[in-house]
Amino acid sequence: MGKVDFYSNKTVTARRQHECEEAGCVRTKVIRPGQQYVRLAGVSHGDFYNAKLCLRCDRMHRQAWNFFTDLCGEDEGPPLGGLLGWLKENLR
Ligand SMILES: [Zn+2]
Repeated sequence: MGKVDFYSNKTVTARRQHECEEAGCVRTKVIRPGQQYVRLAGVSHGDFYNAKLCLRCDRMHRQAWNFFTDLCGEDEGPPLGGLLGWLKENLR
């Protein structure tokens, strides 16, 4: 996956309430205890990151990454948490 050196994602069940970290997330936003969400961790450009996303945003992210890296041959897809802004800039 491009410049990402290390990456993991895990679907887990929330034990307590979390918030989806995608800024454009409108429908789910709050991840309630008992709901599944995706925990992402990785190193990108030498920086460690981790994030929590609701299942819907995780799916959007993966589809956007596949689209831009596989179909368009780009090095990178949208940044975590900034999916909508990134898409607006890149889909003009
Ligand atoms: Zn979300």
